[in-house]
Amino acid sequence: MCLKINFNRIGTIILPILLAACSMHSSNQSEVNTQEPIMLSPDVHSFSNPNEIRVNHLSLDLRVDFDKKILSGTAKVFLSHLGDQDTLHLDSRQLVIHSITLPDGSNATYSLTKPIEFFGSDLAVLVPGKAAFIRIEYETEPGAEALDWMMPEQTAGGKHPFMFSQSQAILARTWLPLQDSPGVKFTYDATIHTNPELLAVMSAENGHDKTTNGVYHFKMDQPVSSYLMAIAVGDLQFQSLGRNCGVFSEPGMLPKAAWEFADMQSMIDSAEALYGPYAWGQYDVVVLPPSFPFGGMENPRLTFATPTIIAGDRSLVSLIAHELAHSWSGNLVTNETWNDFWLNEGFTVYFEQRIMEKIYGKPYAEMLTVLGMEELKLTVADLEEEGRPNDTHLFLNLDGRNPDDGLTDIAYEKGRFFLQTVEREVGRDAFDEFLKDYFTENAFKPMNTKRFLDYLKDHLLDKHAGSAERINIDAWVYGPGIPANSPKPESAEFMRVENSLNAFMASGNVDDIDTSGWTTHHWLHFLRDFKKNANLDLVVKLDDAYHLTSSGNNEILCDWFQIAISTQYKLAYPSMERFLTSVGRRKFLTPIYKLLVTRPEDKKWAEAVFEKAKPVYHAVSENTISDVLNP
Ligand SMILES: [Zn+2]
Repeated sequence: MCLKINFNRIGTIILPILLAACSMHSSNQSEVNTQEPIMLSPDVHSFSNPNEIRVNHLSLDLRVDFDKKILSGTAKVFLSHLGDQDTLHLDSRQLVIHSITLPDGSNATYSLTKPIEFFGSDLAVLVPGKAAFIRIEYETEPGAEALDWMMPEQTAGGKHPFMFSQSQAILARTWLPLQDSPGVKFTYDATIHTNPELLAVMSAENGHDKTTNGVYHFKMDQPVSSYLMAIAVGDLQFQSLGRNCGVFSEPGMLPKAAWEFADMQSMIDSAEALYGPYAWGQYDVVVLPPSFPFGGMENPRLTFATPTIIAGDRSLVSLIAHELAHSWSGNLVTNETWNDFWLNEGFTVYFEQRIMEKIYGKPYAEMLTVLGMEELKLTVADLEEEGRPNDTHLFLNLDGRNPDDGLTDIAYEKGRFFLQTVEREVGRDAFDEFLKDYFTENAFKPMNTKRFLDYLKDHLLDKHAGSAERINIDAWVYGPGIPANSPKPESAEFMRVENSLNAFMASGNVDDIDTSGWTTHHWLHFLRDFKKNANLDLVVKLDDAYHLTSSGNNEILCDWFQIAISTQYKLAYPSMERFLTSVGRRKFLTPIYKLLVTRPEDKKWAEAVFEKAKPVYHAVSENTISDVLNP
């Protein structure tokens, strides 16, 4: 996922086990993923018992009801019996279960525990005689947290409603009854019924065109984790961008989106050249309405992306590189529990940076790396200030907590800089070879921190005498903050920016700023440095010269508004209100609201804006901002 506080965030691995071909409609054991199951470590965020009975295939038949804002239908849940227990435990939250039946059509005995905040209920189903599947008839509650239902006026086109899901971390259980634990991988097929004028897409094999009856069939033959289950339904159109990639968006946005993502095919080619073939066939991106709470979500075969990366200058497409890189790190080799989240995100940021370097060159990638380090330092400082030093470890202890607490820059950036430290120690060629083997050998399997560190030692560090000690793995993985041996990234481009800033700060003359060749990244670095010593006089001069208040670039706006708040530049407030009531991406909203609550007058203003903005925000963002306003 890209929740990145900075704007970043974007095989054939020969399938070790090829799954038996499956027809779209039949749901029988021939569809079942036959991979030898790995015994999973306990997942404190799931009620499931996958070491006893494990879900191996899901067959869905769901109707999308925009009037009631619910999904309803059936989920046929196929099972592997690994132990002796005959009670299957599933995760369920905000689901209304109508009936559960066994293969012979008889009613199954089941119970649902009282729901716990975040976690929901344990749905315990008696499955006697090692039954091959159960059939659950159910519907989602209107407020199911994974699903965002938008009125036509909340979309770009304004004519049709739109619905999309966000399952990570543990929201899949609010629209699907399943074992909602990332270590459990299963295949799936689905039939989705919706309004005939709308197109449904899923994290699976997709058709690219609307059908006349609004019925769509999907299949995903490669095993995926529950957090990668995804659906979007809206007035979508598709445009191909290469051999095996393309983009979906509302029709009015399609030309802009296609232009912005023109480098997608070369990103796929670069990624394959680094770490082996892309394993999932097609790679598409669907551009969602502005309420999508994250930058992107790496749903297999179909990345979900915020429209805020369509900047008009291709400057924010590292997000696509990030989500694409997840096709290896995360989607192929998956964190076994949310305590191991850094295994998904640290690898992905490292990989993303390598793709960006290959396509756009080293100076460009260096800028991204410096910005990443700036973000990491801020995150470490914030977490320490909040009394959460343990949350700056790579390996987390999220027992009893919402796993969203672990979705910070630690997993992303500290993870990346740890891997860069390993690379520096063993050399890039050796590290690349290691990573390629790691992704190939562990494809479609869960991975935890301990198994990874053992693998790293056996396959790489033992061949480089003394490297483990010099890297100081314990300090990185089980210790706080940024270890002393961390890389200290530098960027010549940013030095140029700093020279301009220093000259401007000294003279107060905007002509001293040399913006030739500046990208979004140059501006972000400039604004973040400027923020430290900004005053109202200089802010006015900058805005007069560069019209930052009316910028069309959301990354720049986000930093600019923070400067406007801290210098009380009130002329920017109407524009900030438009921004806060139209963009739902959490990484933009959080720092702005956090700054606004520090002044009583601004806090009042922020509360009024939040009330207006709520219908635009996804539950994920609404919850976060509500916490900021009412700690
Ligand atoms: Zn990610």
